[in-house]
Amino acid sequence: MSRVIIIGCGGVAQVAIHKCCMHSEVFTDLCIASRTKSKCDKLKEKLQPKTKTNITTAQVDANDYDALVKLFKEFKPEIVMHLGMPYHNLVIMDACLECNSHYLDTAAYEPEDVSEPVWRKRYEERRKEKGFSAYFDYAYQWEYMEKFREKGLIALLGCGFDPGVTQGYVAYAKKHEFDTIETLDILDCNGGDHGYPFATNFNSEINLREVSSPASYYENGHWIEIPAMSVKHEYYFDGVGKKDMYLLHHEEIESIAKNFPEIKRMRFYMTFGESYIRHMNCLEDVGMLSTKPIMYEGKEIVPIQFLKALLPDPATLGARTIGKTNIGCIFTGYKDGKWKKYYIYNMCDHQESYKEVESQAVSYTTGVPAMCGAMLILNGTWKDSGVHTVEEYDPDPFIDLLNKNGLPITESYEPIMVD
Ligand code: NDP
Repeated sequence: MSRVIIIGCGGVAQVAIHKCCMHSEVFTDLCIASRTKSKCDKLKEKLQPKTKTNITTAQVDANDYDALVKLFKEFKPEIVMHLGMPYHNLVIMDACLECNSHYLDTAAYEPEDVSEPVWRKRYEERRKEKGFSAYFDYAYQWEYMEKFREKGLIALLGCGFDPGVTQGYVAYAKKHEFDTIETLDILDCNGGDHGYPFATNFNSEINLREVSSPASYYENGHWIEIPAMSVKHEYYFDGVGKKDMYLLHHEEIESIAKNFPEIKRMRFYMTFGESYIRHMNCLEDVGMLSTKPIMYEGKEIVPIQFLKALLPDPATLGARTIGKTNIGCIFTGYKDGKWKKYYIYNMCDHQESYKEVESQAVSYTTGVPAMCGAMLILNGTWKDSGVHTVEEYDPDPFIDLLNKNGLPITESYEPIMVD
């Protein structure tokens, strides 16, 4: 019997909510709390007749600590699954501590206003010290370690696919395939087509911030930063075919570097079509990706937020998206003194996801791991308190749950290497 609050009711949250409702024996009472309550009510109306999970809904501003504490004190959740915006990670973690709830999210903290002076000063120091300039990083949330430990609570960070499952794959590879891992390439391919000239498959503000920031990879204990989209490879993805993929900075490399210091080189690649890149470059050139507020007809607007309002809502792409995603990790390293390669990945079909939960596969591949991670915390399988990422827990029960809940693994011992 578990009481759970899900914050947000967008693309990812809607999948997680569907999936929790398929496991009513664990998720007995679920409160969907978001900025726009009508979205929560609409989903409740659809799901309640088909599930034994008792669903309630609430309006909440995830930026408002007092409102969060009031909601958590009333509902008494064992875990809060934060599937909204990463801007609110810290305030929700604070409210969880106040109300003795576990915490889970799917993206590392970044501030909404990147010109805020206190944050900016620390960011510039980190940029110089660590050598990467993405706005997101785990440092802010790792600082909560002792507070969560003292209360015997877990904060599970980044429990989507990437970050999330990719870290589970690293722990799984280390447990079953390698004595030492030498290199890791994470490959994220979305071979889906939604038919729009330009749309993002998850929150457009976060997506465009991530993709347009300088890329970086990790080698021999250091980050090496390069211009955005400056490294491109063509790769043949199982279930998808040939795609162009580009090197990006990605947050899980930061935690994997901390937890698996033996890995000498780590890179993250994501596929993009030409149309996406052309549109993104143009939008960047005209200032539409800026997070800095500007005055327009006497009103302050943030260009990237205005753009988000113009673009299709990722939660509505499901019906029209066809094709598959293929996301996984290629490793090299040693087992019993012998050098080997190993590739573990998942393929997910957009239309199959839509048939099951009315969402496209990018939301599906994020919402399902979030449900699985919450389940492992609630049933006591993952119990080490404190602030953790997925690779710090036993990967076997996680991979097992993913296999049974729509994200099965495929393994290869002769993968095509990136280069
Ligand atoms: P959406 O934009 O579809 O949904 C965001 C939700 O958060 C909306 O329901 C929105 O409400 C709600 N929200 C926004 N601001 C507030 C607020 N102040 N108070 C309360 N609720 C708020 O995003 P996605 O579902 O696509 O993405 C969700 C998260 O998952 C993001 O952090 C994204 O980066 C992450 N992600 C992680 C991936 C992974 O593999 N790890 C992959 C894809 C996404 P409203 O309806 O009013 O707009």
